[in-house]
Amino acid sequence: MAILDDLSGYEFEDLMEDVFRKLGYENVRQSARTADEGRDILMEEVVDGRRRAVVVECKHTDTVSRPVVQKLHSAVATYDYDGPKRGMVATTGRFTQPAREYAGKLGDGDGGIELLDGRDLRAIAEEIGLDLYNGRIEILCEHSLAPTHPTAGRDAPVYEALRDVENLTLEKTPTPETALEFEPTLTIRAQTSATFETSVGVVHRLEETDDLVVHAGREGPRVATGDVRDLVANPNAPRIDLEDADLEDRFDDVGRDRFGATETEYKEWAVERIRDHHTTTVHYTGGNNVDYEKTCTPSRSDVSIRSIDPVYVPHVTSRLSLGEYDYRYAYYAAGPSRTTTEDGIHRCVHCDEEDADTYTYCANCGSINCPDHIRTERLEDDPVCTGCAVTERFALKTKYFYDEENLEAFREEYSEMAIYEKAMENPALAAAAVFALVFLVGVASSSMGLL
Ligand SMILES: [Zn+2]
Ligand SMILES: [Zn+2]
Repeated sequence: MAILDDLSGYEFEDLMEDVFRKLGYENVRQSARTADEGRDILMEEVVDGRRRAVVVECKHTDTVSRPVVQKLHSAVATYDYDGPKRGMVATTGRFTQPAREYAGKLGDGDGGIELLDGRDLRAIAEEIGLDLYNGRIEILCEHSLAPTHPTAGRDAPVYEALRDVENLTLEKTPTPETALEFEPTLTIRAQTSATFETSVGVVHRLEETDDLVVHAGREGPRVATGDVRDLVANPNAPRIDLEDADLEDRFDDVGRDRFGATETEYKEWAVERIRDHHTTTVHYTGGNNVDYEKTCTPSRSDVSIRSIDPVYVPHVTSRLSLGEYDYRYAYYAAGPSRTTTEDGIHRCVHCDEEDADTYTYCANCGSINCPDHIRTERLEDDPVCTGCAVTERFALKTKYFYDEENLEAFREEYSEMAIYEKAMENPALAAAAVFALVFLVGVASSSMGLL
């Protein structure tokens, strides 16, 4: 049988540990390794509400004969467990006829021994996404965090952002083009149990549970932090089944990034990270009263991966066209929660200012502007941006117009104005003129000896 040929016996045990976990067995772990024997896998199953221990012997060999089954049978009988127990032998090869007969007599109830051969493994592999030729478990994921708020519409986040923009009428805003990209993530739960001993006894003990949230796309695994971590780690975040959701009808474009590695690879990666994370240097005093330092790194087998939960996180990107401009607004979503990754709406198109107190829409060109880049159109008294306005100075002050036509119209209006109206086109100038006049009158009066 050509399957799993490249794995060592130990790697096969590790792999089977993952397989059983995926099959829904609980508390799956390996027994302590003894000198001459391989390690057994210990786990539990719940059948009709009753918890039962299962002791598994893994044999990465061509044939498994009766003594192996017999030996496991006695191991199960002596296994210290407060409740019913049974055994299982898993092999990549096949069982001899006597081995089958022996197991057959024991039955498949309490105290029985179940046999899984290479053919059974093939069936299981298909069920759980195990690649039997390289021993890697692929990630099968058909779930995503919900891309939209449960009640608000698809584009509600964009409209919410637009509400902050002055001079913009939402009713007249076109529908944005909204794309959905599913980004793969994993939540890996690991249990670390380690004891570090020296000649003076135990110097350090570890008993830790860690939940790692990992970006699992093609660019390699990366620990998720901050908001994305919170979205994924929230157990109450609503999820959708990707097979059922009619997303193609609801979004303009739907893409799905692949998981960049196999579950087996992520597991190995996570174990190394957790070993690093829990590495500490401890100080202790030896029997000779000398101070020592010891770096305590949990071994690979001190870290056991309890669960790997894959889920896609929807990254929603909207593009809104207003006049001559396109605005992008993007966020990671988890039902009613989201975290913004790009906000092109609270940003001035002219200077990229993102922290302005107000943003104002220029209906003439479609720009969104900070206070420095928005003016008042002289003829119509509406906002106009500095980028598209036509300017001309009247009463020594620059005036802003939507276009030449409005400028021309104002020129005519201006030429018809009374002198005081013209002066009022520049209140500062007018005030200065009044001040100068008062001053001059004062000077004149005093020179005429009136004061
Ligand atoms: Zn600006
Ligand atoms: Zn403009």
